[in-house]
Amino acid sequence: ESRAYAAQCLNALDTTSSLLRASESMLGDMDAIAGDGDHGRGMVRGSAAANEAAAAAFERGAGAGSLLAAAGDAWADKAGGTSGVLWGAGLRAFGERLGDAETPTPVVLAASVRAFADRIAELGKAEIGDKTMMDALLPFAASLEERIASGASVGDAWSAAADVARHAAAATADLRPLKGRARPLAEKSLGTPDPGATSLAMVFAAVGPHFTA
Ligand code: ADP
Ligand code: MG
Ligand code: MG
Repeated sequence: ESRAYAAQCLNALDTTSSLLRASESMLGDMDAIAGDGDHGRGMVRGSAAANEAAAAAFERGAGAGSLLAAAGDAWADKAGGTSGVLWGAGLRAFGERLGDAETPTPVVLAASVRAFADRIAELGKAEIGDKTMMDALLPFAASLEERIASGASVGDAWSAAADVARHAAAATADLRPLKGRARPLAEKSLGTPDPGATSLAMVFAAVGPHFTA
């Protein structure tokens, strides 16, 4: 059973890497408005390295949690940029909380998403409204926890949380960035969503089917 779940996690990373490759120029253009334009490139590099490391870990017989932790290390190492460090560390924390033993319960899956968010908050120190990926991630984590606590299936809870994240990412267009490289050009950023929040909402929506199958 734990091998099957490790395979699902590997598929989730493969989906992530393909999605980001297809979105590279869109995310780069979005980051170029007030940042340095490398968000697409960084996410592509990081997710490709993560996918490769996960495939190698799977070959070695790693369980889901160890596979995701190794993927996180590769992401942080290869992406470059703020978002890469944060995604990589978050993914490692997600894997550590998830563990290798067996298909996680819904509560453990939600707690693993929370560990991902906590680790990124700890490192990045961004709060809601700062116009960062946290503006999509924290509503996602809260929505997932709430729905799972009230008995929703993982599939329903995950897709509802992904909708919340997508709306929250779009709503960052109205914010001025208070953290990261876009801060000096805050006024130029008005009217455009945060690239890191946008990519996070896209990735979480795309990986849902792998975690809920
Ligand atoms: P860089 O800014 O180093 O070029 P990227 O362009 O890959 O890195 O990523 C930019 C994104 O990183 C931003 O859109 C934002 O979502 C996210 N970000 C920046 N600083 C922080 C932070 N302190 N905490 C959380 N996310 C952050
Ligand atoms: Mg950038
Ligand atoms: Mg950069």
